[in-house]
Amino acid sequence: MAYYKYGNFLTQEQGQEFDTIHHPGAQTPHSGIYRCEVCGGSVVSTLGNPLPPQGHHPHNPGLGPIQWRLVTKAHWR
Ligand SMILES: [Zn+2]
Repeated sequence: MAYYKYGNFLTQEQGQEFDTIHHPGAQTPHSGIYRCEVCGGSVVSTLGNPLPPQGHHPHNPGLGPIQWRLVTKAHWR
């Protein structure tokens, strides 16, 4: 999960980048917070670096592999 205190620091957008699922270890397309679609855990990953790999965290048997989805995009201005 990702948390925040002040909603006025965030701006809602409707971009397709928030609907794309990324494999573990894939190149990070936008700096920001990514959520695992399977377990809800979140991480920070930065543009051009790999998203955390499959071994980043365990899932209960039968839940399947990590799937990363952009939650919050960081942008300079
Ligand atoms: Zn997970």
